[in-house]
Amino acid sequence: MRIGAHVSLAGGLELAVQRGVERGCEAIQIFSQSPRRWHPSAYGREEIAAFREALAASPIEAVVIHAVYLLNCASEDRDLRAKSLKSLAHSLRLGEQIGARGVILHAGSAKNSSAEKAISRAGQTIRAALADSDGCALHIENTAGAGGTLGRSIDELEALISASGGGRRLGVCLDSCHLFASGYDIRSAAGIDRVIEEISAKIGLARIGSLHLNDSQAALGSNRDRHANIGAGEPGRRGCGAYSAAPGFAGLACVLGTPGEDHKGPTRAEVARARAYRRAGAKARASSSR
Ligand SMILES: [Zn+2]
Ligand SMILES: [Zn+2]
Repeated sequence: MRIGAHVSLAGGLELAVQRGVERGCEAIQIFSQSPRRWHPSAYGREEIAAFREALAASPIEAVVIHAVYLLNCASEDRDLRAKSLKSLAHSLRLGEQIGARGVILHAGSAKNSSAEKAISRAGQTIRAALADSDGCALHIENTAGAGGTLGRSIDELEALISASGGGRRLGVCLDSCHLFASGYDIRSAAGIDRVIEEISAKIGLARIGSLHLNDSQAALGSNRDRHANIGAGEPGRRGCGAYSAAPGFAGLACVLGTPGEDHKGPTRAEVARARAYRRAGAKARASSSR
């Protein structure tokens, strides 16, 4: 597993690598563009080459891109769907250029329409974005289930993948905070193993493309998306350890998207803590299987 953090792009692509190194990351997650503006950042060939060079010279082994939160691929508003498609395709092309493991996407929100129709709209948008780009994988993230957001359950993730054409580039990103808030009790190794088994049966283990590790401030099944620093919420220290040490997750990029001790995002100390939890989780698994 490559443990790391979401890092800012401020000042340019290359600085994201530097921020990852400062935080002791083996994996980084970046936005593809400014998170509050629709206008995609255009990166020149030189900037991309500089990023790749900096990355190759660093201990960071995996990069994932997070699509910005403005997107709603499932919107009833045609214009918003078209803008979402354009931005998503841009992210996928950037992912290809920088060698990202995938673009992580919140599939969208049904708002007041039916989930079924919203899934079909999201599927059409995602299909079009995949057709308009090549290579880079797209990981649909599970959600906490707040306000009609799609992807709150494994069944819904499966429906989204099918609606998106079910191709090889499609995968899922699992967020521990969202799993917990949407009702999956992952406070123990058995709990997360059950989730992985269900995914294995319904979607396929190979589709698990990336991970987010966050604690939740909100209760089990509350459908509220409130990240806590790891160890400061639930599933908590033991749950985070069990999650990150799950055999089904070996080799994946696992990034923290926590508020951070000073509300500036995950710190070097927190990334180190995630690794310590993972080691403890692996030990606990080994001793319980003896
Ligand atoms: Zn996300
Ligand atoms: Zn979240």
